[in-house]
This record gives sequence, structure tokens and C-alpha cells, in this order.
Amino acid sequence: MKTLVMKFGGTSVGNAEAIRKTADIIRSAHTDWPRLVVVASAMSGVTDALLKGAHTAAEGDAAAFRSIARDLRNKHFAALDNLLKDSALLQKPRSVVEAYVAEFESLCHAVNVLGEASARALDAISSLGERMSIQLIAAYLNSTGLKAEPIESTELVVTDANYQSANPNADLTRAHTQARLNPLLDSGVVPIVTGFIGATPQGIVTTLGRGGSDYSGALLGVALDADEVWIWTDVDGVMTTDPRIVPAAQTLPELTFREISELAYYGAKVLHPKTIRPVIEHGIALWIKNTFNPSQPGTRIVRDNGHGGVIKAVTVIRGQSMLTVEGRGMLGVPGVAARTFGAVAHAHTSVSLITQASSEQSICFTVPAASTPTVVTALQDEFRRELEQQNIDAVIALENVVIVTAVGAGMRHTPGIAGRIFTALGTHGINVIAIAQGSSECSISLIVDAKDADEAVRAIHRLIVS
Ligand code: ADP
Ligand code: ASP
Ligand code: MG
Repeated sequence: MKTLVMKFGGTSVGNAEAIRKTADIIRSAHTDWPRLVVVASAMSGVTDALLKGAHTAAEGDAAAFRSIARDLRNKHFAALDNLLKDSALLQKPRSVVEAYVAEFESLCHAVNVLGEASARALDAISSLGERMSIQLIAAYLNSTGLKAEPIESTELVVTDANYQSANPNADLTRAHTQARLNPLLDSGVVPIVTGFIGATPQGIVTTLGRGGSDYSGALLGVALDADEVWIWTDVDGVMTTDPRIVPAAQTLPELTFREISELAYYGAKVLHPKTIRPVIEHGIALWIKNTFNPSQPGTRIVRDNGHGGVIKAVTVIRGQSMLTVEGRGMLGVPGVAARTFGAVAHAHTSVSLITQASSEQSICFTVPAASTPTVVTALQDEFRRELEQQNIDAVIALENVVIVTAVGAGMRHTPGIAGRIFTALGTHGINVIAIAQGSSECSISLIVDAKDADEAVRAIHRLIVS
């Protein structure tokens, strides 16, 4: 029998009204898909609030998390009271929410006493949002007559202990997921599963990284050999750019796996970048749809469709620094590139992109702004001798830059496209600091000053939608 996994994002479960819309979609899908799994995010704003509680507690503030706890309780209770009129049905979700709010307070208290929040503690705290939201959704669905059961994905998704960005173990996740969910699916129950979180084999809670509920949807789709995964969000699908930057952005009916991978990697928040690979590798159909406009078809992600050669979308990653290792003596020093990226990796930083060096005498790449000091120090340590001998002149950090990326299959091999992008930026007086080597032929990335970010996106977007 066919299996569908549907993931609902934070705004789709952000208040009682949104949960009603989500529930309508679930009920209607269940008539076509008897084997239906729902993956849910925390209510919008909740993960941010939980993390803020943890960080303020670590910084010595013993009051902020208490007021955040009150807000979280109110938010969940207000939605529950609105959704459930029968007090008998209210009891269980209310007591679970109450218990998790209390857990939040006691974890934050511990962090406050210790004066630091470890990655493991941050995961324990930030996991609470999803563990509360599934209670609301499941209780409401049950009240409408659909059999639903809240399931914490700590029981399903087995990960390593790389807190805050844990890596799932596919075999164990498959075994646990099938053992736990198949009996429910066989009896027509809809599991309402937490997105975002997993657990180590020892049972310690982990998270898959911010925005990771999309990835959870993909992981469960693979684990259950699902036919389709539908990502429900608050826009009509993947758009030509972030509609918050360009309100005239248009929905794309179709994108290839490679195009959506580039878009997600280069900052389009609509889909977590890790979602795509497991889904492609298992031939699962992937759709992005709007909870608040479900009659729209959304965006279908397809294998190569042969319509290459045009710019389809533009995206931006903010908060970057561009680092340059340069020196005329570098040509004679063996292994500079390997040592450069080795030092960056040692500083636990991932490089967003490597740029086209203006000469062979420098290596340029970008890292997130917050990692800049650590990476610069790591590079100075690595190249201490070369710097002393002046084979390397300097390690330079250019701060406040962004990466703007134009995406479209085959674009890089289509004559004239790069030229049109540069002309568009030039006409708007935007200086391109560097051009980046994308990881595939699907994209062209440019580094520009942070103050030019939105204007650069708008200028390139005009080449897509005029
Ligand atoms: P959810 O909570 O449903 O996971 P997110 O906020 O993570 O939703 O992602 C959806 C948001 O992504 C949209 O509201 C939109 O502002 C933003 N976004 C950025 N780039 C794009 C794009 N190219 N297409 C669609 N949405 C985009
Ligand atoms: N709630 C988590 C976050 O805000 C995961 C998600 O929404 O995808 O990052
Ligand atoms: Mg998201």
C-alpha cells in the first residue's frame, strides 16, 4: 500500500487557526493515503524562545527563562483551549505541555547555575517545542474523529552524538521507525511525529540542526519506503526568490533535484538542505505546498527535465566573511590549499564556498561571520613559519559580505548568462567582490558587500521576472 509523509512547518502549527487548517489537510489526505505519517515542527517562534531561555540563563540571567516559560505555557494553552472544548480531551495534552514547560525551567536553571549551556543541554532544551506541538495536533485530530497518536522521534530517529547537527544512522532509524510506526499505520492510525529531533543509541536527545524538520520528513519517508514526501509551509512553493525581499517573487511549478539542492544550500530557507539527498536516492516524489493555500499545486521536485539554461531563482546567505590567504611565495609552498582547508576544518568551521582566485597567489573562501576570529587564528598558527619567512604575506578577513547565488540547471554553460548578471549588477552600481565556483553547473555565486545584498537579489531577480 502506498505511503505518504507530510511535514508541517512552524507557521502551519503556529496557532489554533493554523492547526485547524493543518488538520483539514491531514483528514483529506488520509482518505487517499491510508498509510499517512505527519511530521510537525514546533509552533512558530517556540524554538527561538527556548534557545533564548537557554542562552540568557547561561549568561547569568535567572529571570528571563521564567518569563519565557510563562509565555510558552500561555501560547500552548491558548491554542489548546481554542481547539478543544471538551475538558476530558484537554487533560492529557495540557499535562504534557505543563511537564515540558517545567522541564524547560529546570534545565535552564541548571544552565544558569553552571554558567554555560553545552551543546547537549541546548538540544535537550530546544527539543521541547516539537514535543509540545505534536500533543496539540494529535489531540485536536482525535477530537475530530481521526485516530492520531503523538510520537516522539527520539523513538525513531537514531543519531550520533553530534549535538545540534546530529547525523542519523539510516539502518537503525529504519528498523526503529518500521517497528514503531508500521503497526499504527496498519491499523489506520496517523502518527504525529516530532520533526527536528532524534536520540543517540543511549537515548540522549539530539537535534538535526535549525530548520531540520524537513530533514526529519525525508528520513521517515526513506525509513518507511514512502512513495511521496510533501513539505507544507507558508508560501505557495519554492519561489523565484525569498518573497520577503521581492514581494513579486513567483512560485516555480517545477525544479530539479539539483536546482533545489543549490537553492537550499545557498540559503533559501524554504527547504533544509539535507532533505533532498535521501529523497532523491530513494526515488521518493517531493512536493512543497502551502498550508494556507492548499488548492495550489505547489512545487514539484523532479529529476532532470532537460529545460536547462535559464536563471530560475536567486538566493542569499547573509553574515559571511571572506578570507584570503595570499603571498607571492605561495607558489613554491607545497600543499597550501590542503593546509588552509585543514586548518579551517580543525576550527570546526565549514566553508560556504571557495571563490575564483584573482591570481594563483591567493586562496579565497567564505565562512560564517561568527567563526572569523577562530579561523583567522587557526590559519595564522598553521602558516606561522611561512608568514615569518614572508612566503605568505597575510591572512586577510573581509567582513560583512554576503553570497548571492543565481540558480538554474545548465546555466553556467549557457553563453551570456553570467554576462547578463554582471551587467545587471553593474547597472545598479553593485561591486562584485568575487565570483564563486559553485559545486555544480547549476549556479553562479557572487560575493557582494552586505549593504548591497537586497539590491543585488532584486537586480538578478529582474532577469527572471521583469
Ligand atoms: P517552515 O516553518 O514551514 O519550515 P520556513 O520559515 O522554514 O517555514 O521556510 C519558509 C520561508 O522560506 C518562506 O516563508 C519564505 O520567507 C522563505 N524563503 C526563502 N527563500 C525562499 C524561496 N526561494 N521560495 C520560497 N520561500 C523562500
Ligand atoms: N523547530 C525547529 C526550528 O525552528 C525545526 C524546524 O522548524 O524545522 O529550527
Ligand atoms: Mg523550515
